[in-house]
Amino acid sequence: MAKNDRIFRISKRIGRFSLDRRVIVILILAALFVAGRAYVAEHPEDNPAAPLDLNDPKGWATQTKIMSLRDDVPECRAVLERSGVAFTALDPAGEGECARPDRLRLGDYPLTPSRPPMTCPVAVGLELWQRDTLEPLAQEIFGSAIAEVQHLGVYSCRRLYGRGSGAWSEHATGNAIDIAGFRLEDGTSINVLGDWDGEGDKARFLREARDGACDAFATTLSPDYNAAHADHFHLDMDGRWSSVCR
Ligand SMILES: [Zn+2]
Repeated sequence: MAKNDRIFRISKRIGRFSLDRRVIVILILAALFVAGRAYVAEHPEDNPAAPLDLNDPKGWATQTKIMSLRDDVPECRAVLERSGVAFTALDPAGEGECARPDRLRLGDYPLTPSRPPMTCPVAVGLELWQRDTLEPLAQEIFGSAIAEVQHLGVYSCRRLYGRGSGAWSEHATGNAIDIAGFRLEDGTSINVLGDWDGEGDKARFLREARDGACDAFATTLSPDYNAAHADHFHLDMDGRWSSVCR
């Protein structure tokens, strides 16, 4: 009798222990769930469902959100508005391979010699590049701000490298921009052709600017890629993120 009583008490204890363990696991999961919800509420950049705001820091969901803008012009324009980026929406233009249903002109980006029409995702890329890379880099290396981002053009109705056949360039739809150099508020002039090589501040600026562009654009090509890019960075928003970053 005494023995049975002891076995009963032991099994009861084991039973209670396994019940306690289940309660503990449930409590831990609940705590993780609550903490996770609180985290994504405070970190929209890590929440794929939160609307993109270019003023938020970059998170692991940012790139996916930018890529989804390619197929959603209204949402892309809403992102610019939400982020306080000035722009003018333009009517569609062109036809065939060079049809440009998505065209806008940025309001006060320091592009020179003009602010050409471009797709909304390219505008988003330029904004991110300026905020996250160009401005902090210019301040860090030269203690000055960006006055000009010098470009060689956006739209060009042509195939890759101007060939007679083969794939069309992202320039054919205004979904790419070529950047030749920069001028800073203090007068410093930095250009890809003349300053890429070497170890100086300008070369460092260009290399880090290129690396930063890889975080803002789907494709980034620099002089490291080939001789055709010796004098400019080619930045575009094709459908494959970081297909090339060189
Ligand atoms: Zn290009």
